[in-house]
Amino acid sequence: MSIGDLIFGYAIGRGEPESISSSMAMSKSAEASRKATSTERRIRMMEEYLDRSFLIHEALWELLRDKAGLKLDDLENKLYEIDMRDGELDGKNQRKSVECKNCKRTVSARHAACIYCGEIVDDSIFAMSK
Ligand SMILES: [Zn+2]
Repeated sequence: MSIGDLIFGYAIGRGEPESISSSMAMSKSAEASRKATSTERRIRMMEEYLDRSFLIHEALWELLRDKAGLKLDDLENKLYEIDMRDGELDGKNQRKSVECKNCKRTVSARHAACIYCGEIVDDSIFAMSK
């Protein structure tokens, strides 16, 4: 038994280091630690995907600029056009909640299809949820 077990046991189990509440607390602590590690791993993986995505975007833009003769104004105008598709200049093109055409319930922006009836509400290939 470690010092931590003793301290935790006294704090949680009122002086009974081997009590049930102590082992439950340790179990919750282990679960929280496991979840934190998993979350850190997922964030690292997403950062790597994002770095890779920026690299690909930069390469694609330079190919378009160099091979197709597009100018920075062309890119900025297209970015503005796409950004404004959702009616708000906010650096995003993500729709708001909408009413399902089929069942008339509200469909969250997180869902590409109605969760009640399955009606597709966003068929964009760039929708954040698929
Ligand atoms: Zn529906």
